[in-house]
Amino acid sequence: MSIDGIHDLPWDKMEEECGVIGIYGPGKEVARLAYFGMHALQHRGQESAGMAVGDGQEISLHKAMGLVTEVFPEKKIGELQNEKSQVAIGHVRYSTTGSSLVSNAQPLVFRYAKGMLAVAHNGNLTNAAELRQDLAVTGAVFQTTTDTEVIVNLLARYSQSSLEEALMKVMIDIKGSYSILVMTEDRILGMRDPYGVRPLCLGRLDNAYILASESCALDTMGATFIRDIEPGEIVVIDKKGLTSLKALTPLRRASCIFEYIYFARPDSVIDGIWVNLARRAMGRQLAQEVQIDGDIVIGVPDSGTAAAIGYSLESGIPFEEGLMKNRYIGRTFIQPTQEMRSQAVRLKLNAISKAVEGKRVIMIDDSIVRGTTSGKIVQMLRQAGAKEVHMLVSSPPITYPCYYGIDTAVRKELIAAVKTIEEIRELIGADSLHYLTEEGILNAIAEQGEGLTCKDFCTACFSGDYPIEVTDKQGSSCC
Ligand code: SF4
Repeated sequence: MSIDGIHDLPWDKMEEECGVIGIYGPGKEVARLAYFGMHALQHRGQESAGMAVGDGQEISLHKAMGLVTEVFPEKKIGELQNEKSQVAIGHVRYSTTGSSLVSNAQPLVFRYAKGMLAVAHNGNLTNAAELRQDLAVTGAVFQTTTDTEVIVNLLARYSQSSLEEALMKVMIDIKGSYSILVMTEDRILGMRDPYGVRPLCLGRLDNAYILASESCALDTMGATFIRDIEPGEIVVIDKKGLTSLKALTPLRRASCIFEYIYFARPDSVIDGIWVNLARRAMGRQLAQEVQIDGDIVIGVPDSGTAAAIGYSLESGIPFEEGLMKNRYIGRTFIQPTQEMRSQAVRLKLNAISKAVEGKRVIMIDDSIVRGTTSGKIVQMLRQAGAKEVHMLVSSPPITYPCYYGIDTAVRKELIAAVKTIEEIRELIGADSLHYLTEEGILNAIAEQGEGLTCKDFCTACFSGDYPIEVTDKQGSSCC
C-alpha cells in the first residue's frame, strides 16, 4: 500500500486489521488514557488512528492517517479533553489497498434520534454486502466503504429501541467477527461476536472501566485486568456501573489462532492464555515433531523469537541471536528506486555473522504467507557464513484466505496453497523446511490455559474449515 509515495516495508506477514480501546472514567483524563491504550495497540494497525471523547453533552472527534504519535500530538489531546470529559474510545486501523482513506478511519461519529454515537470496530462482517444492499433499499446513505457504517445504519434503524436493545438487534443481523465499542456522550457499550473470533477484554483503573482489544493496553495504563468479554456478550458501562447482557448464545468458540501465532503482543493474555507462553509452547512442540542436527537455533525477530527459545529449551540446542532487527526503520520508508525495494529486507534485518559463521543454523519464523521474504533471509544467513540453514515454521502452512478481518492474500498468492513444501524449500533456498502440524499447534496453545480446548480456535486459514458462514467473499473494507 502507499500513501503519497511512502510505502510500507514489504514484509511477509498477515496483517491485523484494527485495535480498539474504550475508557469510562468521569474525573479522569480519558483522552490521555485512550492515547496510551492506542499506543500499546499500535501493532494492530498503523495506517490511521482516531479518538472520540464524550463530555456528557457532546462528542468530539479527531482522526487522521498516520501513527498514533503522528495523529495525536500533545496539543490535540488537550483539545479533545475538557473538565467534563468522561468517556473516550480510540481506534487504530490497518486497511487493504483502495480503502486507505481518512473517511474510512474510525471511530465513526454520527447524530441520531437520541443524540450522538461513536462506533469503533475490529473485525469483518461476512454479510456486509447483503446488509448494505438491504439498508440502501430503505434509503440509507453510505459515505464510507467500511463495515462499521453498516453497523451505524443498523443502529439508526433501531433508534426507537433503547441502545441496549438496538445493539442486541444489530447482533442478530450481523454475521462475522467483531469486537465493537459504541459510545454515547456519557456511556460506553462493548460487544464481542458470538464465536469470540476477535479479542476484547475488560479492566479497571480506580473508578474507571476500560475495554481493550488486548490486555497489554491495560498494563500500559496501569489498569488491572478483570476478564475477557464473553462471546455473544454485551457490556454496558455508565454511572450505574457495569451491566452484562448475554445477547447471543455461541454455537461454538472460534478464537483466532493467529492472535497467538503472530498478531497479539507477546505480553498480552487472551482468553486466559499468555501469548508469549503459547509461542514458546509452539517452539517446544516443533522440537518434538522435527529433530534437526543443528549447532544453533535462531528466531526471525520479533515474532519468531519466543518459538525459537521454546525449540532450544526442548531440543537442548543453544539459542543465539542470529538476526538483528533495525528497530528505528519504522513503519514506512521512501523507496527511491526499484533496486532499493529489493533491499527492503536488509533495511529491516541484518545477519550477525559472528553468531552464524560456520554453523548449522535452525531458523524459526512464525509463518510464511507469500514467501517473499524467507528466501532473502536464508540468503542473508548464507552470505554471513552459515554452513546450513534449516527453516522451521511454528505454525501449519497457510492455504486459505481469512474472511474475518485479517489481510492474508488471495488464495493464489498464498505460497503453501499453490506449491508443495519441497517446492517452497527449493524456492527459498533452505537446506530443509518444516512446518508445525495443526494438531501440534492446537495442543500446544490449548495446554497453556484452562479456558479453551483444541476445538475452540478458528484455524480456517490452515484447514479451510470456516466456523462462520461467509456469504460475502469479496468483502468490503474491514473494520
Ligand atoms: S481464518 Fe486464520 S486469521 Fe482468520 S480468524 Fe481464522 S485463524 Fe484467524
